[in-house]
This record gives sequence, structure tokens and C-alpha cells, in this order.
Amino acid sequence: MRWITDIEAGRQLCLHCRKLHPLTVHTCDRCGSTLHQRIPHSLAITWSLAIAATIFLIPANLLPMMVVRSIAGEDAGTIMDGVIYFLEHGEAGIGIVIFTASVFVPFFKLTVLFYLLLLIHFRRYKKALFGLRLFRIIHFIGKWSMLDIFVVALMVGLVQFKNLATIVTGPAAAAFMLAVVATMFATEHFDPRLLFDTELQARKDPSSPKGVNHG
Ligand SMILES: [Zn+2]
Repeated sequence: MRWITDIEAGRQLCLHCRKLHPLTVHTCDRCGSTLHQRIPHSLAITWSLAIAATIFLIPANLLPMMVVRSIAGEDAGTIMDGVIYFLEHGEAGIGIVIFTASVFVPFFKLTVLFYLLLLIHFRRYKKALFGLRLFRIIHFIGKWSMLDIFVVALMVGLVQFKNLATIVTGPAAAAFMLAVVATMFATEHFDPRLLFDTELQARKDPSSPKGVNHG
């Protein structure tokens, strides 16, 4: 498939108010913001935040998410312990919600982000449309990224209310939040138009993997 990009058409879009400008203009005449053909440093920022989020996900999954203190003693559980607990105690619905929000969604979002970054890196422009569809999905589900934190808060509230035990969030909660926030910013800084630029890049310069101005 062939399409004309804004680069070929000699146009650039204001990233703030979406007004179209010729390439010779450097400031938007409608909203006054500096014009960039693509989100500045999109690849570098997305790569770093996606790597940071992956690192944060390790303690988020290995350290305790909740610490329960009762007469019987102290008990700490990771995200997966919580999922297994709810599945074993006939609350499969809650278990599935926690698993989806805390394990499946974060890993899926990061996998897609790395896939998109690699598509650009290796200039797989034939996969650009497929990549864009995946990007739309992760952009859409991003709204529910903090669901897990709400589930933990809700459980803490329920247990405290019933006066069964003292329950506090463990160190994994902080790591999980950092992972979620890093993933959110990574998704925001990713410019999906770069997927389509790879075709232009490949045609212009078939030998070198570099050559498009992202600034
Ligand atoms: Zn503008």
C-alpha cells in the first residue's frame, strides 16, 4: 500500500491544536507552540520508559502486594498469591479482574510497545497498519491501568471494615504504580506516525537503518 506522509507533502501538524502548517514555519500561528514534525525524541523516551517499566514490574510481581497482620501473625502475599487466593476461595471473578489488571494488561502493553519500537528499528513498514491497530488497543486500555491499585485499596477497606485483621499495602504496590506510570508516559510519547515513516526511510536509503529526523 502507498500513502503520502506529511513529510513528503511538506506539511507538519501542530501537536497541540492540530493545525496544519508548511515545513518552513516553526511556531504555530494559532496556539503559539513550537512545531515538531514528530513528537520530539519519541523513540528515545519510549524506549527508556518501556525499559524502566519492565524493571519496575519485577519487584511489583515478586515483592508482597499486601501484608495482613492478625492474631495468627503476619502474612505477606504477592499479586499472584492474591489471584490464587481468590480463585481457591470461590471468588473467581475478583481473581480474574486482579490477574487481568495487574499481570496480563501491564505485560501486554509493554510487549506491544517493544514490538512497535522494534518494527521502527528494523523498518518493517509492511506491518505499520497492524502496529497502529495494536497501538490503538494499548492506548484504549491505558485508562484502566490503575484498576489494580483500586482493587487493593478496596480489599484493604473491606478487611479493615470487618475488623478481621490489619492489612497494609506492601512494597510491590509502589513498584507497580511506577511501572504503570512509566508505561502510561511511554505510550503517550510514542508517535505512531513513525511506523509509516519507515517506508519512506527504506525507499530513500535502503542500506542504512537511520535517516529520518524525529526532532
Ligand atoms: Zn497549534
